[in-house]
Amino acid sequence: MAETIYDLVVIGGGPAGYTCAIRAAQYGLKAAVVESTDKLGGTCLHVGCIPTKAMLFSAEVWDHLKHAEQYGIDGVSQPKLNWKNLLARKNEIITKHTKGLDFLMKKNKITVVNGYGRLTGPAKEGVFSIEVDKAGKKETVKAKKVVLATGSDARMLPGYKADSTILTNIEVLSIDKLPKSLVVIGSGAVGVEFASIFKSFGTDVTVLEMLPRVVPAEDEDVSKELLRLFKKRGIDMHVSVKDTKIEKNKDGALISWTDANGKAQSKQAEKVLVAVGRAPRTSDVGLDKTKITPDRGFILTNEWMETTEPGVYAIGDIVAGLPQLAHVGAMAGLVVAAKLAGRYARAVNRARVPGCTYCDPQIGSVGLTEAKAKEAGYQVKVGKFPFVGNSKATILDSHDGFIKVVSDAKYGEILGVHIIGPNATELIAECVTALELEATVEEMMFTIHAHPTLSESLLDAFSSVEGMAINV
Ligand SMILES: Cc1cc2nc3c(=O)[nH]c(=O)nc-3n(C[C@H](O)[C@H](O)[C@H](O)COP(=O)(O)OP(=O)(O)OC[C@H]3O[C@@H](n4cnc5c(N)ncnc54)[C@H](O)[C@@H]3O)c2cc1C
Repeated sequence: MAETIYDLVVIGGGPAGYTCAIRAAQYGLKAAVVESTDKLGGTCLHVGCIPTKAMLFSAEVWDHLKHAEQYGIDGVSQPKLNWKNLLARKNEIITKHTKGLDFLMKKNKITVVNGYGRLTGPAKEGVFSIEVDKAGKKETVKAKKVVLATGSDARMLPGYKADSTILTNIEVLSIDKLPKSLVVIGSGAVGVEFASIFKSFGTDVTVLEMLPRVVPAEDEDVSKELLRLFKKRGIDMHVSVKDTKIEKNKDGALISWTDANGKAQSKQAEKVLVAVGRAPRTSDVGLDKTKITPDRGFILTNEWMETTEPGVYAIGDIVAGLPQLAHVGAMAGLVVAAKLAGRYARAVNRARVPGCTYCDPQIGSVGLTEAKAKEAGYQVKVGKFPFVGNSKATILDSHDGFIKVVSDAKYGEILGVHIIGPNATELIAECVTALELEATVEEMMFTIHAHPTLSESLLDAFSSVEGMAINV
């Protein structure tokens, strides 16, 4: 039988990789996915987005139950947490969606090759050979184009290793019982989401952040509000910490650090979660046999995700300068597929990526922060609307937070929207569209929003730029 030469082979079956392969197949291209584990879905499905959101949902239900009597529901004031079942539900969701991906591969006639993939060098006569290693057994997959989508791993503090006390996002998702105390090192999205989950269930949670503010990628006002609201929830928050050390002992670990005033501080905890960012998985994928020179492990691409090796593309968490988010990787995959099929494509616009953090309170943001807009030379006009003025937020018993709109004073173009509060991760979708369509504040002020909804607070927020919010 003639050897199959695929139009493209994607190395890595996470959200970036499988999305790219599915769209390529929809365009009529012959695609294969090489995946080193026995399951598609990557970090996102197995140890990232999906399990954390499943646990956050349980945490939200639990938090509502705490106020059940106030909502007119008696008899549930003493709920009991069943940690085993909570984890089982999370695992069922993962299994369901893993099966869903297998179905989608079949439906789209995509070949899945199990094994660890490596580039063997540039294309020869227009064809790449990918070496696939499955437990020492090697095979070669041939394709006209290669898409690298190998994802990332949790970074560890130098000198430490993950184990049953020092956890990364992988170990923390399967601890057998709720810890009495947890120190979270790092206050990016991953750190604050886990802090939020465990605090809801009653764990004594401490968050340590090296930078002067929490969720440092967000607008400063959002960082301040999250700090305030996490403190209000009883989370012990520390920013500007230095020299963090972990000493394991029989009860867990003693975590010590130097605070902003140079004072030594420490905390004993049953578990420590290290959430200090993610490192690209590119050290052993055969880059040395190509013209690709990674930058601290990240692969440089142009706007069409082309690397410096002709015919090799990179998408997802491994790409230099792209936010490490599932939807960004997936969109980059769609762009590559369209380009390979010779179809219409629009490059990923890094300024229009929604950033979502699903802790309580949620954060959703898109576009420029106030500081970045000023740095970029805009004359900035800002509006802010607090959820306290929104009737649906009252109904949901969720009044904390606000929406901040950053606009260009000259033309009224909306440059950024920053939401902290109820359903912020859903509300942000409208703002992404507004930015994509270069909407102005005035246009949004005359866009009808249903009543009573949380999205109505966006109408007030856009109007607040002109000092004309109705409900405050
Ligand atoms: C706790 C946590 C929560 C998160 N929550 C969110 C969220 O809510 N929303 C969001 O957008 N993002 C979230 N993220 C980030 C998101 O998970 C990543 O951005 C996303 O998974 C990246 O997709 P990817 O396809 O680039 O890589 P991955 O998902 O890491 O997938 C890469 C795949 O490649 C495989 N692979 C690696 N090397 C090879 C090789 N050489 N050969 C074959 N296969 C290989 C891996 O096994 C893996 O299956 C979260 C991350 C974490 C850790």
